[in-house]
Amino acid sequence: MSGMANIIETRDLSYSYGDGTQALRNVSISLQEGRKVALVGPNGAGKSTLMLMMNGILRPSSGEILFAGRPLQYDASSLREVRRAVGMVFQNSDDQLFAPTVYQDVAFGPTNLGYPAEKVKRDVGFALQYVGLSGYERRPPHHLSGGEKKRVAIAGILAMEPQVMILDEPTSNLDPASSEEIMEMLDELNQGGKTMIISTHDVDLAYRWADEIILMKDGDVIRRGSGPEVFMDADLIRDSRLKPPLVVEIYQELASRGMASGARPPKNILELCDLLQPGGSGRSLGKIYIWDVDGADEAEIKSMIDRMGDCYKGAMGTGAKL
Ligand code: ADP
Repeated sequence: MSGMANIIETRDLSYSYGDGTQALRNVSISLQEGRKVALVGPNGAGKSTLMLMMNGILRPSSGEILFAGRPLQYDASSLREVRRAVGMVFQNSDDQLFAPTVYQDVAFGPTNLGYPAEKVKRDVGFALQYVGLSGYERRPPHHLSGGEKKRVAIAGILAMEPQVMILDEPTSNLDPASSEEIMEMLDELNQGGKTMIISTHDVDLAYRWADEIILMKDGDVIRRGSGPEVFMDADLIRDSRLKPPLVVEIYQELASRGMASGARPPKNILELCDLLQPGGSGRSLGKIYIWDVDGADEAEIKSMIDRMGDCYKGAMGTGAKL
């Protein structure tokens, strides 16, 4: 994805809330199209404020924001366009979902954009299928589980076919399995070409998932770079009131005892184990079977799984998981 254009850029962005709290101080960042970006920082760092500004919900006190190279305008029709193109999923789903049924909630965005009823219906159907909630159309959102509510909120954004999706703390209040499912979905959407921006103070999540980390503190961006570039700096991380990701912490401890070395720290537990393996590469560790299950029926899939025998199995993609 190198050489991609900047999709969002901020120049000297500052913001103060009505009570005088300065939430952002001269933030200048550029985000490349197609990336997975995590805004990381302690509570109050300014992550939410920056996100609300990226889709025009808040207007900067000074400085400017560019979307696809053009400064954001704040008249009603420009705002409608930027909110379509840059979809925002709030931290608390209850702040986002308000309609009496799931269908009406997801249909709200495309209806508001003035799309014809037929297109709205198609877009909503597609979005609900994508997030795995076909059949939920008539359910009231407030009766759904936390993970399901988050999916409805994501569907509501997807139905408007955004280029960028911004998710404020997408996994807060979700159980580990639901969190994992949501993050996989974000990965899939990214592979489909969408730029993804999340905020989190979960350093393990950010390290595992993001191509790029933007570290914030007290309304400033204090570092940006890849996960290893940002999280290997122990002083920086401590000063930011964070902890290093567990994999990085273990790696640093092992490295200090001469038990592990590598050009870069491991990205996950598997890579960590590879570093520890004496003479690592060259040894056969087993086989990987890859099946394309699109179009296969249940009996075929079952026989594939039987032929694989005793091994770990995983499914990539919403269709495959179903
Ligand atoms: P984060 O998302 O990183 O936790 P926020 O953007 O929510 O940070 O907050 C940045 C700063 O702005 C904090 O000092 C916070 O207290 C303040 N703040 C956030 N929302 C408001 C508001 N509605 N009114 C006044 N101050 C606010």
